[in-house]
Amino acid sequence: MITLKNIVKAYDGKKESGRAVDGLNLEIRKGEFVALLGPSGCGKTTTLMMLAGLLKPTSGEIYFGERMVNHVEPKDRNIGMVFQSYALYPHLTVRDNIAFPLRERKMRKPEAYERAREISKIVQIDHLLDRKPAQLSGGQQQRVAMARALAKSPEILLLDEPMSNLDARLKLDVRDEIRKIQRDLGVTTIIVTHDQEEALAISDRVAILNDGRIQQYAPPNELFGQPVNLFVASFLGNPPMNLVPGTIVMSGGEQTIATSGFQYRIPRERQLDAAHIGKPVKLGLRPHDMTLTGADDPEAIPMRVDLVEHLGSGKLVKVTDPNKKLESMIRLLTDNETDVQSGDTVHLRVRADKFHLFDMTDNGLNL
Ligand code: ATP
Repeated sequence: MITLKNIVKAYDGKKESGRAVDGLNLEIRKGEFVALLGPSGCGKTTTLMMLAGLLKPTSGEIYFGERMVNHVEPKDRNIGMVFQSYALYPHLTVRDNIAFPLRERKMRKPEAYERAREISKIVQIDHLLDRKPAQLSGGQQQRVAMARALAKSPEILLLDEPMSNLDARLKLDVRDEIRKIQRDLGVTTIIVTHDQEEALAISDRVAILNDGRIQQYAPPNELFGQPVNLFVASFLGNPPMNLVPGTIVMSGGEQTIATSGFQYRIPRERQLDAAHIGKPVKLGLRPHDMTLTGADDPEAIPMRVDLVEHLGSGKLVKVTDPNKKLESMIRLLTDNETDVQSGDTVHLRVRADKFHLFDMTDNGLNL
């Protein structure tokens, strides 16, 4: 449905200089919900603006289906857009706000109003059609903006941080609503967000951007479970992945990760190519992926508990090696029933399929 081919955007027009978007390739299927996720300044909004036609790429090509749209005006792209600010017309009623893009296309008033009524039903604001935006809550305004974007039955819906003005609770409801409406209408949707939870919850696939480049483009599970590099691994997850510097060594004939505080024997099924022996790595351990076991577990790593924080849903336990040689504490999550106190000695179990190893190249590739 949408293809971005080697898109570069330099705001001064010079390809060589600071690029907001730097060689971006992306394919989005018809009906798919895709998020562009990344830290501030990574090029998300710039990419969305190019899809909308509000910005022109410095080089590269954008296709909607077979059609190259680089030079197609925004109004001719058959897209609907919802901005962070909603940009509703304050002097118009909800009905007229929703009908506005239809009237712009010369649809007659009765028909435009009928369509406004139809679409307002779908987003559940049909009881608010006579109000002005100032008489609506944030969540209601958000729905009006959605209805207006959807009124023309666009093929593509572009959402720029559409939930950032809503409080945490409402955000969850609106998020489900957006997803439901999107599924019902089957409209191909791209959302820009810096909220990872939102992106992972709502999308079929997420493109993680950094410095104008896609780091990984995959379904949420895969991004979380198989991050391709250190950036993706450390960007996703809350609390974040623990990253422990170490070296791959042979110890007692077994491949082992030697860190400053402990040794971890690499399980058989995860053996590395011999070329990695002697090389420095970062061991990545997600707080959710470790468990505490008894002292009789030969694979477990003895640790000392430094701090226990109660999160409500469970406990965040910070541990370090008994000799305090580790540079930073390791954080893990347990359930509320696990009885741990600071000062305790515990035994840390790392599941064979749940640790990550990153090499020391610039990108920190997952081995
Ligand atoms: P945020 O989450 O903060 O909105 P973003 O990922 O959407 O960030 P962009 O707005 O796409 O990032 O900006 C990407 C880069 O381009 C940034 O370094 C930004 O400073 C730069 N940039 C954005 N707009 C312009 C502009 N009009 N002129 C020059 N540079 C710009």
